[in-house]
Amino acid sequence: MDGKADLHLHTAYSDGVLTPHNLLVQAHRARLTIISITDHDNTGALDEAIPEAALMGIEVIAGVELSTTVDAQDIHLLGYFFDHRNSTLQDYLKVFRAERRKRAELIVMRLHDLKIPLSFDSVLARAGKGSIGRPHIAAAMVEDGLIDSYQEAFYRYLGFGKPAYEQKYQISPVEAIRLVAEAGGLSFVAHPGSSIDERVLLGLIKEGVDGIEVVHPSHNEERTAYYRGIADEYFLLASGGSDFHGGRKNDDDTLGRFTVTADAVSVMRQRLR
Ligand code: AMP
Ligand code: ZN
Ligand code: FE
Ligand code: FE
Repeated sequence: MDGKADLHLHTAYSDGVLTPHNLLVQAHRARLTIISITDHDNTGALDEAIPEAALMGIEVIAGVELSTTVDAQDIHLLGYFFDHRNSTLQDYLKVFRAERRKRAELIVMRLHDLKIPLSFDSVLARAGKGSIGRPHIAAAMVEDGLIDSYQEAFYRYLGFGKPAYEQKYQISPVEAIRLVAEAGGLSFVAHPGSSIDERVLLGLIKEGVDGIEVVHPSHNEERTAYYRGIADEYFLLASGGSDFHGGRKNDDDTLGRFTVTADAVSVMRQRLR
């Protein structure tokens, strides 16, 4: 089967910029035939995208990106092929989003302590109906003229260990893996190259992840081959995608460049049975 699949995309339902419709238009232009929308803690884009995508000849796989924690390290897991109407999963996602909102309020309070008068309303306006995250806070800081650049917001205030840093609601990878499995899906370790050391990766494999995201903009050729090797060695699936958020710096030509084959997606589907 021919076709290119990008299994890591964000929309305005989390910290992406594009609506599901506009994402589909760009995906179509990039000749993707299979996509997964993997918003953080949110599957709201799926109901909008699935019927429209079908008309364009694009298949949309249910997806979500969950944040988990191991030894204070942020480990992102991607869930795929689950039933996005599963009520247990949706109840959890609601809790995660509510916790994100509380965390954003705490971050804004920390910024006030640091004499950065960012209004929470301005952050809420940025987030719209999406899961609130630090990208919204950084963007609101730039928009309100409180800082010069998005990157600066992270390295001065919002990044890990910086003065306005606040931890996210903590769940372990096993809990996330179970949540996805009980909704009928598969879990993948997201972009291991950007944050995960080998010991932690092997721990995740032991805990039952189904696959590894081998293709990602943060992986060079060597890293990609390395993770593909680990996936083969442990009989795991290999996924990949662009982690496109739409409209950000360096995002312009990412769509279509970080993909896996339609065959790789078929192999994943076989694992579901
Ligand atoms: P959150 O979900 O609120 O923890 O935000 C995580 C998102 O913030 C990541 O997916 C990145 O898009 C962005 N991010 C995290 N750290 C940095 C950083 N140091 N510089 C730029 N963006 C970052
Ligand atoms: Zn994101
Ligand atoms: Fe991520
Ligand atoms: Fe992502």
